[in-house]
Amino acid sequence: MAYPRALEELIQAFERFPGIGRRSAERLAFHVLRDDEARGLARAIDDAVAQVKRCSVCGNVTEHEPCAICGDDERDRSLILVVEEPRQVEAMERAAAWKGLYHVLYGALNAAEGTEVRHLSIPKLVQRARSGAVHEVCLGMDPDAEGEATALACLEALESLQRDDLHVTRLARGLPAGTAIEFLHRGILEDALEHRRVVKARRTPRS
Ligand SMILES: [Zn+2]
Repeated sequence: MAYPRALEELIQAFERFPGIGRRSAERLAFHVLRDDEARGLARAIDDAVAQVKRCSVCGNVTEHEPCAICGDDERDRSLILVVEEPRQVEAMERAAAWKGLYHVLYGALNAAEGTEVRHLSIPKLVQRARSGAVHEVCLGMDPDAEGEATALACLEALESLQRDDLHVTRLARGLPAGTAIEFLHRGILEDALEHRRVVKARRTPRS
C-alpha cells in the first residue's frame, strides 16, 4: 500500500538530506506528523530559507549584508582565514581565536563526490586577495585528504596573483589528522592559529 501523496512527498524531501536514507526519512516524516511542534518546524524552515543569506564579502551565513564580522571595524582586515563551511567560522568565533576576516569556500575538493575547483568560491578569494590591504591568507581547511587538496588549489590560485607582498599560511600541524575543525577544542584551535606555518612567504617587506 502506498503512502498518501503528501506524506510520500515529505519522505522524499527528507531523503534528499545528506546521510538520510529511505528508512530514516520515513522515521523523520512520521515523527513530524506526530509532533505538535510540526508547524513551528515548518515556520522555522521557512524563516531560515527566507532570511539567511550569504555575505557578499566572505560568503558566511548572515541575516544582514555584510555579515557582522565583515562589518566589524575592530577586525583586522589584513588577515583572511579560509574555511570550508560556515560551521568552521562558528567554531573559530566560539573559540575567539581569530581577529581577522574569513572566507567560506562552501566545500572541499572531493573526487568521489564530484566537487571540483569550479564548485568552490576560490575565484572570489583571489579577487579579495588581490587588494593590497590583505597581507595574509591563512588556509584553514580540515586536516584530511580533501582539505589538503583544497589548500593546494587555493595556494596555486593565490600564487597566480604574483603578489610578492602576500603571505599564505596554513594551520599548525598539531591538528589531529582526519578530524573536522568544528569539533576541536578551543585550545587546539588557538594553538593551530598561533603556530600557523608559512606556505608562501611574502618576498617584499610590508609597506
Ligand atoms: Zn562577511
